[in-house]
Amino acid sequence: MEFQKTPLHRSGLFSSMMDQRCSEKKLKNVILLIGDGMGFSYTTGLRYFNNDSVKALMVPTIFDRHFVGTQSTYSLDPESNITDSAAAGTALATGYKTYNGAIGVNIHGQSVPTVLEYAKYRGKSTGLVGTSQINHATLAAFAAHNESREQYNKIADDYFDERLNGQLKIDVMLGGGKSYFCREDRHLAEEFMKNDYGYVTSLWELVANKNERVLGLFAPVELPKQIDRVPAVPSLAQMTKAAIQRLQQNPKGFFLLVEGSQIDWAGHENDIVGAMSEVKDFEAAYQEAVHFALDREDTLVIATADHSTGGMSIDRDDHYKWNPGVIKAVTATPRVIADRLHRTKDIGTLKNDISFSLDDEDLQLLRTTLEMTADDTHQALISIINHHSSTGWTTKGHTGEDVPVYACGLCSHLFSGKIENSDIANILFQIID
Ligand SMILES: [Zn+2]
Repeated sequence: MEFQKTPLHRSGLFSSMMDQRCSEKKLKNVILLIGDGMGFSYTTGLRYFNNDSVKALMVPTIFDRHFVGTQSTYSLDPESNITDSAAAGTALATGYKTYNGAIGVNIHGQSVPTVLEYAKYRGKSTGLVGTSQINHATLAAFAAHNESREQYNKIADDYFDERLNGQLKIDVMLGGGKSYFCREDRHLAEEFMKNDYGYVTSLWELVANKNERVLGLFAPVELPKQIDRVPAVPSLAQMTKAAIQRLQQNPKGFFLLVEGSQIDWAGHENDIVGAMSEVKDFEAAYQEAVHFALDREDTLVIATADHSTGGMSIDRDDHYKWNPGVIKAVTATPRVIADRLHRTKDIGTLKNDISFSLDDEDLQLLRTTLEMTADDTHQALISIINHHSSTGWTTKGHTGEDVPVYACGLCSHLFSGKIENSDIANILFQIID
């Protein structure tokens, strides 16, 4: 990767926005958090979810307090005007809008530098944290270059093989994906260990490990959603904290990318329990980042989404009453509950997982699906919970509306107003200098 000079200011917009406040103080650290699929209905849903009654003014979320603007997400795909995570991730990482499926390459398939790589080139430490496998689309777009997001093994190889000034480019990697890093044909975890990385596979090991550089893989592929997680699997906030602790040792600062990867996955399933679980996980990670930044004057924190997913709506069918109480009355994702029901085949055990009252029609539907597959029970639970909470969905895919941008700390005002997803990278390239 060539970094002959500071990347060009491609939109030409930002020099005028670089005011005194941003240029006088030195920006040392950047924490970019991406809620995959986290459109406005998810962060508004979080506000409803956090407020028990709507008899008074709702208490704003931490995101509300840091709202600065919106960004448009469309990709430059020849077939589609709705982005996927790879194209949006690449735009956010490189400043180039590209085709769907592209990982760190432009519309012509050529590798383009990412802000993570640029930060490394400038002597900073770098980190990638997420709840999917860490070689999954959004995270991959910041640290690998591939014409296709499907090349999971090659992307994992890139994390080790692609060097900047002869150095490994990612210092801290935390998330899922053991099956891609410990393979029959290649044991990347061992290769990282030989290069003085710590390798950890549980929260306890992560906390006990003292290496400044670490690879933490806490599941074969994705982590369980927060609501289903066991104590050995860290939360996104715990991983964010562990990453910051290590990265801040570098006197030149750091760039950290944190992805709430599975907000999107819950959206694809139209699962409101999973969606709120993952938005809460992301909110706590954002709080962790803000907590670090507000103690100092040299750190920028940005939170945004790559697109929205599922066409989630807060209320449906003219009810005028969305009911987050129903969502809170469910203690695991519908997927986990469905699998459990299929093991026990006992509808009576449902009361351990669901404490809102199911009507006869619901119970009849669930009994019927117990004779079918766990997938059928999963779908039935999703539709029952959507019905009782009055949550609407329009698609199992992504949607094209603009997404929110939240920011705080040094230079945060540069992201205000209506911008393009690619502008986030273009501004970062300029201010990381
Ligand atoms: Zn996405």
